[in-house]
Amino acid sequence: MAYPYKKMDEADFEYIRSVTAPDRVWTGGDIAREYYRDEMPEYGIFPPELYVEVINKEEVSAIMAYAYKMNIPVVCRGAGTGLAGGATCKYGGIMLSVMRMNKIFPVDHKNQTITTEPGALLLDIQAAAAAEGLFYPPDPGEKTASIGGNVITNAGGMKAVRYGLTRDFVRCIEAVLPDGSIMNFSSNVVKNTTGYAVKDLVIGSEGTLCIITQITLKLLPAPTCSATLVMPFDSLESCADMVPKVLELPFVPTAIEFLERELIDIVEKNLNRQFPVKQGEAVLIVMYDASSQQELDSAVAAASEAALANGAYDCCIADTPERAATVWSVRGGILEGMKADSVSQEECDVVVPRSEIAGYVKAAKRIALAHGIRVEPCGHCGDGNIHTEMLRDEGMSDEEWKTATHACLKELYALSKELGGQLSGEHGIGNGRLEFLEEFVGPRMIQLYKSIKLAFDDKLILNPGKIVEFNK
Ligand SMILES: Cc1cc2nc3c(=O)[nH]c(=O)nc-3n(C[C@H](O)[C@H](O)[C@H](O)COP(=O)(O)OP(=O)(O)OC[C@H]3O[C@@H](n4cnc5c(N)ncnc54)[C@H](O)[C@@H]3O)c2cc1C
Repeated sequence: MAYPYKKMDEADFEYIRSVTAPDRVWTGGDIAREYYRDEMPEYGIFPPELYVEVINKEEVSAIMAYAYKMNIPVVCRGAGTGLAGGATCKYGGIMLSVMRMNKIFPVDHKNQTITTEPGALLLDIQAAAAAEGLFYPPDPGEKTASIGGNVITNAGGMKAVRYGLTRDFVRCIEAVLPDGSIMNFSSNVVKNTTGYAVKDLVIGSEGTLCIITQITLKLLPAPTCSATLVMPFDSLESCADMVPKVLELPFVPTAIEFLERELIDIVEKNLNRQFPVKQGEAVLIVMYDASSQQELDSAVAAASEAALANGAYDCCIADTPERAATVWSVRGGILEGMKADSVSQEECDVVVPRSEIAGYVKAAKRIALAHGIRVEPCGHCGDGNIHTEMLRDEGMSDEEWKTATHACLKELYALSKELGGQLSGEHGIGNGRLEFLEEFVGPRMIQLYKSIKLAFDDKLILNPGKIVEFNK
């Protein structure tokens, strides 16, 4: 095993410059501070010793082969929008950015796929598919995340209710292993039972097993119409009770999200956006895609009727892209709004079975409030992935905040487990949730995780100290 790692010196810097280019390498104090952390600085701020922007797989391979030989840790960096403290150099070493590898190849119509380098942005992939009349459905909230980051964290997002996760759209992956070997996991085939499903193991591995250098994604025919419904209720609990009623209808919704009025106010106030529905202490937002207007009208009529029969004050229909955009822009501004409205944040990203959504939401609010924490449960309630957002107000000391959020998270994770849920639904473990993992999954599972890690990375040089920690 590799601890302690080699401290990098001028000879190491010079080697990395020689296999890349001097103007794409930064060292020490010249490295921009944004690369010390991801979107959650609460989960760790760590300076890399060297930051390099690569332009092809050969450079990735040369850097990894050198790091493997010299015992230097390497962390791959996408757009840095992760919410788990994943893209950080916890043990120093090299931060390797793939953001310049952003080429999107022409759509393959015969296979209905698109191939891309890992640094392409999600929004550009979605646009490239749309330009060809096709559809890349995964829709995590942050559209400027890299597609490599989406795949390696198995990003979920709002449309998972109907279409599934990023995983469900990955046909094949090209990646570099920690020792520098370049591998292909699967190929552009619809089925594959050739050996272990390594491609699926790599998806969601949070940059701890390999560095993705190319991805082929499945596309779908684009839906021809869609509508967004806003159902205002007297409470978040009533919204949660409505979720199974929507799911029981004979139409599969694309997304089901909920928001409390307090959170809508936070986004309106801090980001100057206006939510079109003023009624209700909480709203359920339901979206439908369809391939004909008739199918869409039937879904909308059935959902509206169910909402009114189950206590909604109204059911407002946003059936033009402009009206729908006003709804989704407030939903999309939650994280930014909360950041502007608090000193810092902590987030619980559990996922519970759909049958337990209402039970979780009701108990989660009680638990957080009992710890004296301002809490905003929100998010992907259609798939049970409730983001329980905790906000720190002025006047709370570091110690008070840490103690309260830690105790609260422990209770929330225990609740999720009791309800048959999981610790993270989409944001992953990274560094931020590491300390809670073993209690959740048990020691035998941690042993399995460690064996998997060692099978890929016997010297523990790739993103060490994330998901599994050997150094304790
Ligand atoms: C406003 C906002 C909304 C969000 N909404 C959602 C959501 O709805 N659903 C969801 O799932 N997530 C969401 N996220 C989280 C985040 O966008 C995703 O985790 C995203 O997939 C991260 O991509 P990235 O390029 O920013 O990766 P980074 O943050 O740069 O890296 C994340 C992890 O992936 C590794 N990594 C990155 N690229 C590669 C690669 N090519 N090869 C190997 N490892 C790599 C890194 O080492 C790190 O461990 C949201 C984030 C924000 C800020």
